[in-house]
Amino acid sequence: MSKQFDVVVIGGGPGGYIAAIRAAQLGFNTACIDEWKNAAGGPAPGGTCTNVGCIPSKALLQSSEHFEHANHHFADHGISTGKVSIDVAKMVGRKDTVVKQNNDGILYLFKKNKVSFFHGRGSFVAAKDGLYEVKVAGAAEEVISAKHVIVATGSNARQLPGAAFDEENILSNDGALRIGAVPKKLGVIGSGVIGLEMGSVWRRLGAEVTVLEGMPAFLSAVDDGVAKEALKQFTKQGLKIELGVKISEVKTGKKGVTVAYANAKGEAQELAVDKLIVSIGRVPNTIGLNVEAVGLALDERGAIVVDGDCKTNLPNVWAVGDVVRGPMLAHKAEEEGVAVAERIAGQHGHVNFNTIPWVIYTSPEIAWVGRTEQQLKADGVAYKAGQFPFLANGRARALGDTTGFVKILADAKSDEILGVHIIGPMASELIAEAVMAMEFKASAEDIARICHAHPSLSESTKEAALAVDKRTLNF
Ligand SMILES: Cc1cc2nc3c(=O)[nH]c(=O)nc-3n(C[C@H](O)[C@H](O)[C@H](O)COP(=O)(O)OP(=O)(O)OC[C@H]3O[C@@H](n4cnc5c(N)ncnc54)[C@H](O)[C@@H]3O)c2cc1C
Repeated sequence: MSKQFDVVVIGGGPGGYIAAIRAAQLGFNTACIDEWKNAAGGPAPGGTCTNVGCIPSKALLQSSEHFEHANHHFADHGISTGKVSIDVAKMVGRKDTVVKQNNDGILYLFKKNKVSFFHGRGSFVAAKDGLYEVKVAGAAEEVISAKHVIVATGSNARQLPGAAFDEENILSNDGALRIGAVPKKLGVIGSGVIGLEMGSVWRRLGAEVTVLEGMPAFLSAVDDGVAKEALKQFTKQGLKIELGVKISEVKTGKKGVTVAYANAKGEAQELAVDKLIVSIGRVPNTIGLNVEAVGLALDERGAIVVDGDCKTNLPNVWAVGDVVRGPMLAHKAEEEGVAVAERIAGQHGHVNFNTIPWVIYTSPEIAWVGRTEQQLKADGVAYKAGQFPFLANGRARALGDTTGFVKILADAKSDEILGVHIIGPMASELIAEAVMAMEFKASAEDIARICHAHPSLSESTKEAALAVDKRTLNF
């Protein structure tokens, strides 16, 4: 007789492990199956986010930012360091330690919340008598069953046709996070979040970085004003960014990688680099899940079809995170995981897709929530805009980082905040106030009337709110 659970979660990334923990907290006998292996072959739950995504990329961004500060900004504070060098192996080792701490933390939380963890690949076997049978193929093979299944199998990096990842020369996010030495020349195909973050890491450490982007506009999903400022800053830092390119061929050889492409004018170009990162998006992952066994429906992109509540076409089968529609963000996956566990318990779990924050952890950081100015124009919404530069913020001056601004967009009549766009220091942290304000349907005046600590970067948010009504107090 197979082990029987109330809820089986397939996938232990931020969507899956959070769903499993919440389900267990709600009193369900819960199992979570995850196949990720660490270097020793042991379990490494946490998914893309923990192993080759959010967490390791932020660890390397932090190390490389320290290096950049020591090299270029410490002297402004009267600190002389002499020649600064980087031990890449140590930096990557520190990143691996941070990853392991997170893997271990999840295993601890499973134990604490009495989630049964299975290390191996989960695949559907059959639906029988109101239960789903799921095979776990790990060190041993066993079949477990449950009334409810939550699929949270994530996504994989999209390959460029004719340029398969070898993780030596042509790198996905995985290889990009464990380059062993600073490449002299690094190519990045795709100027999305991952391409810009990875490009920034290796540029700060001394690589000559060229970013090739197929779209004619830079960061087209971002507010126009922010995208323009970002392009200016990244170019000033030394990232070479070419827009509107068309890649024709990628060749690897003894000396690295050569990319043949046409530039925006249609002229034939060639880029020779030591390593090439390909970051052109991610594809939903259902490899090995055996969806056919139970008839789980996928869409034309390979994503599991779900409704607004993460219900699939099958009774009691749910799907969350990167494997379904919507933004591929860890916190979106987490929110969906919590909401599904609560719905299984008969509660009213809810995800507000209008208030999901986006962050790019470059320097300057970029963060936003809600609609951009170009979206409001396209939707024909009458709005007011208020903007405040960090240049006029005392804390930013003291920090020595006055790049960028906060911009608030509010409804012209009701003053309700419709979007907040930040480029500058600590934008990733500052955006939380905007998310909270929008979640509570605050007006720009509400933020303007809230007392903000002085001196703080958040005063720029208050000032941008005041600017919506054409006022300024210059905190
Ligand atoms: C370089 C990089 C940086 C990123 N930075 C950020 C960031 O700063 N902020 C942010 O919000 N997002 C970031 N993301 C995106 C984020 O990582 C994903 O949105 C998030 O991990 C999705 O979570 P998930 O649970 O849906 O899937 P995943 O994290 O992909 O987890 C899926 C898990 O399921 C396992 N699995 C798959 N199939 C099976 C199976 N059949 N049986 C058992 N296990 C299976 C996988 O091994 C994996 O462990 C980044 C991504 C990358 C690549």
